[in-house]
Amino acid sequence: MKAVQLLAHGVPGRFDLREVPDPIPAAMEVVVEVRACGLNRLDLWFEQGDLPIALQLPRTPGCEIAGRVLRTGPQAQEWSVGDEVAVQSNLFCGQCASCQSGEESMCLQPLMLGVQRDGGFAEQVVVPARVLARLPKEVDFKSAAALTLAGSTAMHMLTDRARVRASDWVLVIGASSGVGSAAIQIAKGLGAQVIATGSNNAKRSLATRLGADWVVDSQDPQWPEEVRKLTAKRGVDLVVEHVGGDTLRKALACLARGGTVVTCGATASKDFQLDLWSFFVRQHRLVGSYSRNRRDLQATLDWAAAGKLKPVLDEVLPLEQTAEAYARLRRRTVLGKLLVIPSTDAAV
Ligand SMILES: [Zn+2]
Repeated sequence: MKAVQLLAHGVPGRFDLREVPDPIPAAMEVVVEVRACGLNRLDLWFEQGDLPIALQLPRTPGCEIAGRVLRTGPQAQEWSVGDEVAVQSNLFCGQCASCQSGEESMCLQPLMLGVQRDGGFAEQVVVPARVLARLPKEVDFKSAAALTLAGSTAMHMLTDRARVRASDWVLVIGASSGVGSAAIQIAKGLGAQVIATGSNNAKRSLATRLGADWVVDSQDPQWPEEVRKLTAKRGVDLVVEHVGGDTLRKALACLARGGTVVTCGATASKDFQLDLWSFFVRQHRLVGSYSRNRRDLQATLDWAAAGKLKPVLDEVLPLEQTAEAYARLRRRTVLGKLLVIPSTDAAV
Protein backbone atom coordinates (compact mmCIF):
# COMPACT_ATOMS: atom_id res chain seq x y z
CA MET A 1 0.00 0.00 0.00
CA LYS A 2 0.97 3.65 -0.31
CA ALA A 3 1.84 5.56 2.85
CA VAL A 4 3.25 9.00 3.57
CA GLN A 5 6.13 8.76 6.01
CA LEU A 6 7.78 11.52 8.00
CA LEU A 7 11.53 10.87 7.64
CA ALA A 8 12.97 13.87 9.49
CA HIS A 9 11.54 16.48 11.87
CA GLY A 10 11.69 20.14 10.89
CA VAL A 11 9.76 23.14 9.61
CA PRO A 12 8.96 21.77 7.13
CA GLY A 13 9.67 18.15 7.96
CA ARG A 14 10.87 15.73 5.28
CA PHE A 15 8.10 13.52 3.93
CA ASP A 16 8.12 10.69 1.42
CA LEU A 17 5.27 8.82 -0.23
CA ARG A 18 6.33 5.19 -0.18
CA GLU A 19 5.15 1.72 -1.03
CA VAL A 20 5.05 -0.28 2.24
CA PRO A 21 3.67 -3.73 3.15
CA ASP A 22 -0.07 -3.96 3.82
CA PRO A 23 -0.65 -3.99 7.61
CA ILE A 24 -1.66 -7.29 9.20
CA PRO A 25 -4.08 -7.14 12.15
CA ALA A 26 -3.16 -8.76 15.47
CA ALA A 27 -5.88 -10.78 17.24
CA MET A 28 -7.89 -7.80 18.52
CA GLU A 29 -7.03 -5.38 15.72
CA VAL A 30 -8.73 -4.22 12.55
CA VAL A 31 -7.28 -2.90 9.30
CA VAL A 32 -9.23 0.09 7.99
CA GLU A 33 -9.12 1.24 4.38
CA VAL A 34 -8.62 4.99 4.83
CA ARG A 35 -11.19 7.05 2.90
CA ALA A 36 -10.36 10.41 4.48
CA CYS A 37 -7.93 11.69 7.11
CA GLY A 38 -8.05 15.16 8.67
CA LEU A 39 -5.02 17.31 9.42
CA ASN A 40 -4.63 18.69 12.94
CA ARG A 41 -2.40 21.02 14.90
CA LEU A 42 -1.02 17.87 16.55
CA ASP A 43 0.38 16.84 13.15
CA LEU A 44 2.39 20.09 12.96
CA TRP A 45 3.83 19.51 16.43
CA PHE A 46 4.83 16.00 15.44
CA GLU A 47 6.33 17.28 12.17
CA GLN A 48 8.45 19.74 14.18
CA GLY A 49 9.36 17.10 16.75
CA ASP A 50 7.80 19.35 19.39
CA LEU A 51 5.97 16.88 21.64
CA PRO A 52 6.93 15.95 25.21
CA ILE A 53 7.25 12.23 24.42
CA ALA A 54 9.82 10.00 22.73
CA LEU A 55 9.32 10.08 18.95
CA GLN A 56 10.52 7.52 16.42
CA LEU A 57 10.91 7.95 12.67
CA PRO A 58 9.99 7.03 10.03
CA ARG A 59 6.34 7.27 10.98
CA THR A 60 3.10 7.67 9.02
CA PRO A 61 1.23 10.57 10.61
CA GLY A 62 -2.50 11.29 10.47
CA CYS A 63 -4.89 10.96 13.40
CA GLU A 64 -8.40 11.88 12.24
CA ILE A 65 -9.52 8.90 10.19
CA ALA A 66 -12.70 7.60 8.61
CA GLY A 67 -12.86 4.54 6.39
CA ARG A 68 -14.08 1.05 5.80
CA VAL A 69 -13.09 -2.17 7.58
CA LEU A 70 -10.83 -4.18 5.28
CA ARG A 71 -9.50 -7.04 7.45
CA THR A 72 -10.20 -8.16 11.01
CA GLY A 73 -8.10 -10.05 13.53
CA PRO A 74 -9.50 -13.38 14.80
CA GLN A 75 -10.72 -11.80 18.06
CA ALA A 76 -12.21 -8.65 16.51
CA GLN A 77 -15.44 -10.32 15.51
CA GLU A 78 -17.66 -7.38 16.38
CA TRP A 79 -16.52 -5.83 13.10
CA SER A 80 -17.13 -7.08 9.55
CA VAL A 81 -15.41 -6.31 6.27
CA GLY A 82 -17.12 -3.28 4.73
CA ASP A 83 -18.29 -1.67 8.00
CA GLU A 84 -17.99 2.11 7.81
CA VAL A 85 -16.13 3.52 10.80
CA ALA A 86 -14.49 6.48 12.47
CA VAL A 87 -11.26 5.86 14.38
CA GLN A 88 -10.66 7.35 17.82
CA SER A 89 -7.15 8.79 17.68
CA ASN A 90 -6.25 8.43 21.34
CA LEU A 91 -5.59 4.69 21.46
CA PHE A 92 -6.79 3.95 24.99
CA CYS A 93 -5.72 0.66 26.58
CA GLY A 94 -9.18 -0.65 27.49
CA GLN A 95 -7.74 -2.25 30.65
CA CYS A 96 -6.83 0.43 33.19
CA ALA A 97 -9.21 1.71 35.88
CA SER A 98 -10.03 4.83 33.83
CA CYS A 99 -10.89 2.83 30.71
CA GLN A 100 -12.93 0.37 32.77
CA SER A 101 -15.01 3.24 34.13
CA GLY A 102 -15.66 4.77 30.69
CA GLU A 103 -13.14 7.59 31.14
CA GLU A 104 -10.92 6.62 28.22
CA SER A 105 -9.62 10.20 27.98
CA MET A 106 -7.85 9.57 31.29
CA CYS A 107 -6.30 6.26 30.16
CA LEU A 108 -3.03 5.57 31.96
CA GLN A 109 -1.39 3.92 28.93
CA PRO A 110 -2.63 5.73 25.86
CA LEU A 111 -0.88 5.83 22.48
CA MET A 112 -1.32 8.64 19.98
CA LEU A 113 -2.32 7.42 16.56
CA GLY A 114 -0.12 8.94 13.87
CA VAL A 115 2.55 9.79 16.45
CA GLN A 116 3.35 6.64 18.42
CA ARG A 117 1.73 4.28 15.87
CA ASP A 118 1.34 4.65 12.12
CA GLY A 119 -1.68 6.75 11.23
CA GLY A 120 -4.00 7.66 8.41
CA PHE A 121 -1.98 9.41 5.68
CA ALA A 122 -1.91 6.04 3.96
CA GLU A 123 -4.20 3.72 2.06
CA GLN A 124 -4.65 1.49 5.13
CA VAL A 125 -4.22 1.76 8.89
CA VAL A 126 -4.26 -0.95 11.58
CA VAL A 127 -5.81 -0.10 14.97
CA PRO A 128 -7.24 -1.88 18.03
CA ALA A 129 -10.87 -2.86 17.37
CA ARG A 130 -11.99 -1.04 20.56
CA VAL A 131 -11.16 2.42 19.13
CA LEU A 132 -13.61 2.14 16.21
CA ALA A 133 -17.02 3.81 16.17
CA ARG A 134 -19.66 2.86 13.62
CA LEU A 135 -20.63 5.63 11.22
CA PRO A 136 -24.32 6.47 11.14
CA LYS A 137 -25.63 6.14 7.58
CA GLU A 138 -26.21 9.91 7.38
CA VAL A 139 -22.51 10.69 8.00
CA ASP A 140 -20.12 10.37 5.06
CA PHE A 141 -16.38 9.71 5.28
CA LYS A 142 -15.31 13.32 4.77
CA SER A 143 -17.67 14.64 7.44
CA ALA A 144 -16.56 11.92 9.84
CA ALA A 145 -12.86 12.61 9.23
CA ALA A 146 -13.44 16.33 9.80
CA LEU A 147 -15.27 15.79 13.11
CA THR A 148 -13.80 12.64 14.66
CA LEU A 149 -10.99 14.36 16.54
CA ALA A 150 -11.82 18.08 16.60
CA GLY A 151 -15.59 17.69 17.02
CA SER A 152 -15.33 15.09 19.75
CA THR A 153 -12.68 17.19 21.53
CA ALA A 154 -15.20 20.05 21.63
CA MET A 155 -17.97 17.65 22.73
CA HIS A 156 -15.77 16.45 25.61
CA MET A 157 -15.01 20.05 26.63
CA LEU A 158 -18.62 21.29 26.55
CA THR A 159 -20.54 18.31 27.88
CA ASP A 160 -18.08 16.53 30.15
CA ARG A 161 -15.20 18.66 31.45
CA ALA A 162 -17.47 21.72 31.59
CA ARG A 163 -21.24 21.56 31.22
CA VAL A 164 -23.02 24.18 29.18
CA ARG A 165 -26.45 25.11 30.53
CA ALA A 166 -29.19 26.70 28.46
CA SER A 167 -28.88 30.51 28.49
CA ASP A 168 -25.20 30.42 29.54
CA TRP A 169 -22.93 32.91 27.85
CA VAL A 170 -20.20 30.96 26.06
CA LEU A 171 -17.12 32.53 24.47
CA VAL A 172 -15.42 30.40 21.79
CA ILE A 173 -11.81 31.34 20.98
CA GLY A 174 -10.71 30.82 17.37
CA ALA A 175 -13.94 30.28 15.48
CA SER A 176 -12.31 28.92 12.33
CA SER A 177 -10.39 26.06 13.96
CA GLY A 178 -11.74 22.52 14.03
CA VAL A 179 -12.43 22.71 17.78
CA GLY A 180 -13.79 26.26 17.58
CA SER A 181 -16.17 25.62 14.69
CA ALA A 182 -17.58 22.54 16.45
CA ALA A 183 -17.75 24.30 19.83
CA ILE A 184 -19.90 27.12 18.41
CA GLN A 185 -22.44 24.61 17.06
CA ILE A 186 -22.47 22.45 20.21
CA ALA A 187 -22.87 25.45 22.52
CA LYS A 188 -25.75 26.77 20.37
CA GLY A 189 -27.31 23.30 20.29
CA LEU A 190 -27.24 23.26 24.10
CA GLY A 191 -29.07 26.60 24.22
CA ALA A 192 -26.19 28.96 25.02
CA GLN A 193 -25.62 32.51 23.80
CA VAL A 194 -22.38 32.39 21.88
CA ILE A 195 -19.66 34.96 21.29
CA ALA A 196 -16.80 33.87 19.02
CA THR A 197 -13.41 35.41 18.26
CA GLY A 198 -11.81 35.51 14.81
CA SER A 199 -8.69 37.24 13.52
CA ASN A 200 -10.12 38.32 10.15
CA ASN A 201 -13.43 38.97 8.38
CA ALA A 202 -13.60 35.53 6.75
CA LYS A 203 -13.17 33.78 10.11
CA ARG A 204 -15.73 36.02 11.81
CA SER A 205 -18.26 35.47 8.99
CA LEU A 206 -17.76 31.73 9.34
CA ALA A 207 -18.52 32.03 13.08
CA THR A 208 -21.77 33.83 12.28
CA ARG A 209 -22.74 31.21 9.69
CA LEU A 210 -22.14 28.49 12.30
CA GLY A 211 -24.58 30.20 14.65
CA ALA A 212 -22.49 32.57 16.81
CA ASP A 213 -24.69 35.40 18.08
CA TRP A 214 -21.79 37.89 18.27
CA VAL A 215 -18.24 38.00 16.95
CA VAL A 216 -15.22 39.97 18.16
CA ASP A 217 -11.93 40.74 16.43
CA SER A 218 -9.08 38.93 18.20
CA GLN A 219 -6.56 41.22 16.44
CA ASP A 220 -7.86 44.11 18.55
CA PRO A 221 -5.79 44.01 21.77
CA GLN A 222 -8.83 45.29 23.69
CA TRP A 223 -11.12 42.42 22.62
CA PRO A 224 -11.89 41.24 26.19
CA GLU A 225 -13.50 44.64 26.80
CA GLU A 226 -15.71 44.04 23.78
CA VAL A 227 -16.84 40.76 25.39
CA ARG A 228 -17.61 42.65 28.63
CA LYS A 229 -19.69 45.18 26.69
CA LEU A 230 -21.69 42.47 24.92
CA THR A 231 -22.55 40.88 28.28
CA ALA A 232 -23.48 44.23 29.91
CA LYS A 233 -20.21 44.04 31.93
CA ARG A 234 -21.18 40.70 33.50
CA GLY A 235 -18.73 38.49 31.60
CA VAL A 236 -19.29 35.00 30.21
CA ASP A 237 -20.01 31.76 32.06
CA LEU A 238 -17.67 29.62 29.97
CA VAL A 239 -14.72 30.15 27.64
CA VAL A 240 -13.65 27.41 25.22
CA GLU A 241 -9.91 27.96 24.81
CA HIS A 242 -7.13 26.18 22.90
CA VAL A 243 -4.52 28.86 22.13
CA GLY A 244 -2.78 29.32 25.49
CA GLY A 245 -0.31 32.08 26.34
CA ASP A 246 -1.69 35.59 26.56
CA THR A 247 -4.99 34.48 24.99
CA LEU A 248 -5.63 32.28 28.02
CA ARG A 249 -4.93 35.21 30.36
CA LYS A 250 -7.40 37.32 28.39
CA ALA A 251 -9.94 34.48 28.40
CA LEU A 252 -9.89 34.49 32.21
CA ALA A 253 -10.45 38.25 32.14
CA CYS A 254 -13.70 37.66 30.19
CA LEU A 255 -15.27 35.46 32.89
CA ALA A 256 -18.26 36.31 35.04
CA ARG A 257 -17.99 35.49 38.74
CA GLY A 258 -18.00 31.73 39.13
CA GLY A 259 -17.15 31.25 35.45
CA THR A 260 -14.98 28.55 33.88
CA VAL A 261 -12.28 28.44 31.21
CA VAL A 262 -11.92 25.02 29.66
CA THR A 263 -8.75 24.57 27.61
CA CYS A 264 -7.46 21.82 25.35
CA GLY A 265 -4.42 23.33 23.67
CA ALA A 266 -1.47 25.68 23.69
CA THR A 267 -0.81 26.56 20.07
CA ALA A 268 0.57 30.02 20.95
CA SER A 269 2.37 29.23 24.20
CA LYS A 270 2.40 26.66 26.99
CA ASP A 271 2.99 29.39 29.62
CA PHE A 272 0.81 32.21 30.84
CA GLN A 273 0.55 34.60 33.78
CA LEU A 274 -2.27 34.11 36.24
CA ASP A 275 -3.60 36.99 38.34
CA LEU A 276 -4.26 34.77 41.33
CA TRP A 277 -6.06 37.45 43.35
CA SER A 278 -8.68 37.99 40.65
CA PHE A 279 -8.87 34.21 40.11
CA PHE A 280 -9.89 33.27 43.65
CA VAL A 281 -11.87 36.40 44.54
CA ARG A 282 -14.05 35.92 41.49
CA GLN A 283 -14.17 32.14 42.08
CA HIS A 284 -13.06 31.13 38.60
CA ARG A 285 -12.28 27.66 37.39
CA LEU A 286 -9.58 26.67 34.91
CA VAL A 287 -10.27 23.17 33.59
CA GLY A 288 -7.97 21.08 31.43
CA SER A 289 -9.48 18.88 28.75
CA TYR A 290 -7.75 16.19 26.75
CA SER A 291 -8.91 13.80 24.11
CA ARG A 292 -12.41 12.33 24.48
CA ASN A 293 -14.30 9.40 25.86
CA ARG A 294 -16.04 6.86 23.63
CA ARG A 295 -19.37 8.41 24.54
CA ASP A 296 -18.13 11.84 23.34
CA LEU A 297 -17.23 10.41 19.93
CA GLN A 298 -20.58 8.63 19.73
CA ALA A 299 -22.41 11.85 20.67
CA THR A 300 -20.43 13.73 18.01
CA LEU A 301 -21.47 11.25 15.32
CA ASP A 302 -25.09 11.31 16.58
CA TRP A 303 -25.17 15.12 16.42
CA ALA A 304 -23.70 14.98 12.90
CA ALA A 305 -26.31 12.40 11.84
CA ALA A 306 -29.06 14.65 13.19
CA GLY A 307 -27.68 17.60 11.20
CA LYS A 308 -26.89 19.57 14.37
CA LEU A 309 -23.12 19.46 13.91
CA LYS A 310 -21.71 20.19 10.46
CA PRO A 311 -18.06 19.94 9.54
CA VAL A 312 -16.37 22.93 7.96
CA LEU A 313 -14.26 21.67 5.07
CA ASP A 314 -11.60 23.94 3.63
CA GLU A 315 -9.93 21.70 1.08
CA VAL A 316 -9.50 18.04 0.19
CA LEU A 317 -6.05 17.04 -1.07
CA PRO A 318 -4.73 13.75 -2.46
CA LEU A 319 -2.16 11.72 -0.54
CA GLU A 320 0.56 12.99 -2.89
CA GLN A 321 0.00 16.55 -1.56
CA THR A 322 0.11 15.74 2.16
CA ALA A 323 3.21 17.92 2.71
CA GLU A 324 1.41 20.84 1.00
CA ALA A 325 -1.50 20.36 3.42
CA TYR A 326 0.94 20.76 6.34
CA ALA A 327 2.33 23.96 4.80
CA ARG A 328 -1.18 25.36 4.38
CA LEU A 329 -2.15 24.62 7.99
CA ARG A 330 1.05 26.27 9.20
CA ARG A 331 0.27 29.44 7.20
CA ARG A 332 -2.93 29.77 9.29
CA THR A 333 -5.06 30.61 6.27
CA VAL A 334 -7.26 27.56 6.68
CA LEU A 335 -10.98 27.94 7.34
CA GLY A 336 -12.12 24.68 8.90
CA LYS A 337 -10.59 21.35 8.00
CA LEU A 338 -8.00 20.15 5.55
CA LEU A 339 -8.55 16.54 4.54
CA VAL A 340 -6.26 14.12 2.78
CA ILE A 341 -7.74 11.27 0.76
CA PRO A 342 -5.67 8.33 -0.47
CA SER A 343 -7.03 8.36 -4.03
CA THR A 344 -9.50 10.35 -6.07
CA ASP A 345 -11.89 7.43 -6.38
CA ALA A 346 -12.04 7.37 -2.56
CA ALA A 347 -13.64 10.83 -2.55
CA VAL A 348 -16.94 9.56 -1.20
ZN1 LIG B 1 -6.65 2.68 29.74
